[in-house]
Amino acid sequence: MNLVEKVVTAGLCTGCGLCESLGNPGEITMHMSSLGYLRPVVGRAFSKEVETEIAACCPGVEVGHAEGLDGYNVNWGPLRGVTGGHATDPETRRQGSSGGVLSALCIYLLESGEVDFVAQVAASKSDPILNELQISRTRADVLRAAGSRYAPSSPLRSLRDLLATGERFAFVGKPCDVAALRAYMGRHAEVAMQVPYLLSFMCAGIPSIHGTHELLMAMGARLEQLSTFRYRGDGWPGMARAVQHDGATFEMDYNRSWGGILGKHLQFRCKICADGTGEFADIVCADAWYGKDGYPDFEERAGRSLILARTAVGEALLERVRSAGGIEDESLAIDEISAMQPYQLDRKRLAAPRSLATFLAQGRTTKYRRLGLGKATSEAGIVTSLRNAWGTFRRAKGEPLAACKHSEPDA
Ligand SMILES: Cc1cc2nc3c(=O)[nH]c(=O)nc-3n(C[C@H](O)[C@H](O)[C@H](O)COP(=O)(O)OP(=O)(O)OC[C@H]3O[C@@H](n4cnc5c(N)ncnc54)[C@H](O)[C@@H]3O)c2cc1C
Repeated sequence: MNLVEKVVTAGLCTGCGLCESLGNPGEITMHMSSLGYLRPVVGRAFSKEVETEIAACCPGVEVGHAEGLDGYNVNWGPLRGVTGGHATDPETRRQGSSGGVLSALCIYLLESGEVDFVAQVAASKSDPILNELQISRTRADVLRAAGSRYAPSSPLRSLRDLLATGERFAFVGKPCDVAALRAYMGRHAEVAMQVPYLLSFMCAGIPSIHGTHELLMAMGARLEQLSTFRYRGDGWPGMARAVQHDGATFEMDYNRSWGGILGKHLQFRCKICADGTGEFADIVCADAWYGKDGYPDFEERAGRSLILARTAVGEALLERVRSAGGIEDESLAIDEISAMQPYQLDRKRLAAPRSLATFLAQGRTTKYRRLGLGKATSEAGIVTSLRNAWGTFRRAKGEPLAACKHSEPDA
């Protein structure tokens, strides 16, 4: 079994798609698996050199900082600025998942000419429930991609093509996509020059596409009749909204769509993730919930994002966007992150016992380096850690982690 197959079989693949781009055409291709996740399928043997690159960059193999970071917060990673705010443009704020800040940053980067395009995920043009990589060059493109898409995406499968353009671009992706690209940039300085900004969002995990099927069924919408579909946005938290070709519209609130359905379809790798907060990005946004215990109170409000500047590059970009009037934000204390994102706090604290349990069950796990997991785990306490390790062990033994059948290639 080659490395890609080992990662997939052990349930460690995040679906980022980088391996497809590292291989030569036809060697590795992302497909939608029968379990509803995007997974690489090896069509032809790939070289030792490709395997070495994959071993160094695949977020199913390893995720870690290249060096120890000053001022590293064990729970929240590198922090140079913590604020709460929103896009000043009302349309961007409304279309965005929380406060539209990621979209506002992308629009600024394009309109200021700092980048030629933004590589980001949007609804597929041919199937509204699938995701595909979009090259955004205008504000309208960015707004088309705004809002969270709670379904598999493999934005890095096209990295080779993006780099071949020779243009400078910003990348927006899930924390695992960004960790993979950061690792690749660490080995290829010219790529780091071409991709000056990595943006991400806090991520609770990627649900199977079957979660979306279940959601549509619960909403009463018909998949084959679907014209557009969004999971969130257009308000905060906003509704999941399916519109059929005949004009019939179906909605469901975030509590029922994410809490009741989608959140129950997460891929295994996300359950042992130590980087739900996007530690490798320049800037990360999340929901700055006003509700209790990190969960919204479901009163619809004007959106507000939690904004973390993680690098000097990210801090400087935020300052420029602020000065240009693209976002409005105000400082938050680090403790407030825990109140808004208690789920992410637990994930960081429990990642080590969960990934150790995966190793015991599968003989393989994702290695986490320099993420402060020793200290984070000690804050979780021994009983909680053991309980979680046991739960993960049973899951890793019992759940179907990989499926060999696959359907047509998809984004
Ligand atoms: C799977 C998933 C899980 C999430 N879990 C959490 C969480 O636990 N806590 C939390 O606070 N926030 C979570 N979010 C993020 C949150 O919903 C908002 O995206 C975040 O607050 C940023 O909001 P914004 O208004 O600034 O972003 P927007 O301006 O709406 O921009 C969103 C950006 O995310 C990109 N995007 C959307 N879906 C995907 C996808 N599937 N793959 C790659 N890129 C995508 C879009 O291309 C766009 O650039 C999650 C999002 C996703 C997609």
